[in-house]
Amino acid sequence: MMTTDWIRKHRDDLIDFVMELVATPSPNLPGDERAVAKAITAHLRRLDMDGFEIAAKEPHRPNVIYRLAGRGDGPTLMLCGHSDTKPVGDGEQWRSDPMKPVIRDGKMYGLGTTDMKGAVAAMIYAVAALKQTDAPLHGDVLLVVNADEERTMTCGSEFLATDYGIKADVCLLGEPSGIDGPEFEFLHLLSRGLSCFTVRVLGTQMHSSLSDRMPSVNASIVMGEVLHRLDRELKLTFEPHPLCASPTTNLGVRIEGGVGYGVYPGSAAFQSDIRTLPGMSRDQLERDLRSCLESISRDYPKARIDLTFEEPPLDWFAPSQVEADHPLVGALLDAAQQVLGRRPELSAFPGGTDAKNFQVEAGIPTIPSFGPGWLPLAHGPNECVGVEAIVQAAQMYAIAAMSYLRA
Ligand SMILES: [Zn+2]
Repeated sequence: MMTTDWIRKHRDDLIDFVMELVATPSPNLPGDERAVAKAITAHLRRLDMDGFEIAAKEPHRPNVIYRLAGRGDGPTLMLCGHSDTKPVGDGEQWRSDPMKPVIRDGKMYGLGTTDMKGAVAAMIYAVAALKQTDAPLHGDVLLVVNADEERTMTCGSEFLATDYGIKADVCLLGEPSGIDGPEFEFLHLLSRGLSCFTVRVLGTQMHSSLSDRMPSVNASIVMGEVLHRLDRELKLTFEPHPLCASPTTNLGVRIEGGVGYGVYPGSAAFQSDIRTLPGMSRDQLERDLRSCLESISRDYPKARIDLTFEEPPLDWFAPSQVEADHPLVGALLDAAQQVLGRRPELSAFPGGTDAKNFQVEAGIPTIPSFGPGWLPLAHGPNECVGVEAIVQAAQMYAIAAMSYLRA
């Protein structure tokens, strides 16, 4: 039987499996993927994929890993999705119970449908199909369902990329790749990075009745000026990327200052984040910020202006990308042509993903997102995924694996 026919034949089992995964809570916070990992491993057994491994930094944060061995003379393709979800948040805004998946008008609604239990199930069925149909593969498929993507990543991709030492030649993440068009609207090759920092201004804290008689610096006022001038004067060093023209500079994502009535403000600060492009470095970013702040501070000689980066990993969450001419990119575009009848546009994923750890820490080129569903629906009420898109995802993953691993 053809591999894609096997997936068609097991379509209902695949959809039931997604419903089971959605009905198995794995919110992060608090972060406990034991139940969902148990549902996955039970299903792997049913699909005759017994040789899986559980790798865990902490017992309640299991990562499930399964290797489908090829002939041993080709590259290793890693297919990866995360098993955790964001917490429900305000359940009142849902039209149906977020933990009880329902299908309406061809879409499955529930927490984690689009981000990303639909893609996880599709990847598992793609590998099952390759196995059951004895697809000819030179290299291995490494299926990874990791924990802890939605928060710190320490027990998920960070652990796998460092302590565990995961190895592959290329990785595909099944994060939702629709934005405001059809599912599989884009094939995202790039993930912008993130750098978070605080600028603090220190002035003179004292009795506010004395500000006309004593030399003093109002930290809140100077902070306002610094914020405004940094916005106009900061020049970041970067090369525009063909898929993403520039970083985003988001100054004052939070501001604080002063003590209250009666106290002249001695300290005020604003937090900022910069979403970086491939090619940018933390050192250069810090040099750009410091040189701009130094030039501003010359106009405020009595104030002290400090720059502090957040603790890792938020100080520098590295950007990542896969080159457009990577053979897996061609294999996915061809698979999309075959299954969807069109080739998705190459693009940049707006948010952060596990690509950061797999690419930057483990050195595995990682495509951050090609999966069913829509990114804007993730982390919000009435999250849903197209039912047919889950089946299409499984078919595209299997076709792309066969063509990439046949090379
Ligand atoms: Zn996700």
